[in-house]
Amino acid sequence: MADASAYPPHVIAAHHEAGHGVGAVFLSVPFESISIEGEGSGDGSFITQLTWGELKSRGVWRYHAVVCELGGVVETLIFGESGRHCSENDQAIIDHIVSTFIADKAERGEVKLWLKEKAIEIAALPNFILAVKAVAEELMRRKFLSGRRVEEVVRQGCPSVDPHPYSGEEFRGHHS
Ligand SMILES: [Zn+2]
Repeated sequence: MADASAYPPHVIAAHHEAGHGVGAVFLSVPFESISIEGEGSGDGSFITQLTWGELKSRGVWRYHAVVCELGGVVETLIFGESGRHCSENDQAIIDHIVSTFIADKAERGEVKLWLKEKAIEIAALPNFILAVKAVAEELMRRKFLSGRRVEEVVRQGCPSVDPHPYSGEEFRGHHS
């Protein structure tokens, strides 16, 4: 495994945010953009366009939470560890989502485990990491990519990739 401290913070941030973006494309979760700050900074952001009401009514909140997990999962897969403050922020968002939509405390624990397992499963899909690397490279050049551009890079960079492998129906059938 690579030593994460050997990589500049903006390189790690670009792959982390690309993990969210590619995950959102694979899972058909609409999002606004991903961005990173300049070199030297390890900051970045993944901006969603969904409101709480939309997350609930479209039934995509679990997928959205999986997308939140994927930043840290990708960091661990590529750099060997995920200890960034950004991943802590992702966990806070996941906790907020789960406690908003799941009333039962025991069930919250189960759902959180399921989210982690699902994120690892998505990251292991053929070409997922390849797509993350293509998106991260463009993100390092441009600092900002719209959701639409991320989807284009995923399709162009890896022609054999099959975005949207999961449908909302399959998803809603689980745990609801
Ligand atoms: Zn993140």
